[in-house]
Amino acid sequence: MVTGWESACEVTCVECGIVFSVPVSFVDERQKDGATFFCPNGHKLTYGETELDRLKKDNKELKGKLARYTERLAGKELSIIQLKLSLAATRAWVTRLKGKKKSE
Ligand SMILES: [Zn+2]
Repeated sequence: MVTGWESACEVTCVECGIVFSVPVSFVDERQKDGATFFCPNGHKLTYGETELDRLKKDNKELKGKLARYTERLAGKELSIIQLKLSLAATRAWVTRLKGKKKSE
């Protein structure tokens, strides 16, 4: 039968070193959600990086990659436009040369 008591877990504050007990479920929840809690002396404590933090970091990295690829793609498109213009100029020059040969 559940009596309302559950296993306790000892937590040591990294700031002041005080050891205090909290329910195991409390620790599990804080490890999952990364929410801040406080030691009896009022120091802020958290357990590492949360899922949200990891997703935010991934999102930032992907946005950076996208920006770099977009920039590279824009550079390639510019090169293609320059090559097309160069080709058009060469064709026009060849056409002019052919015209000169015929008139000679
Ligand atoms: Zn503390």
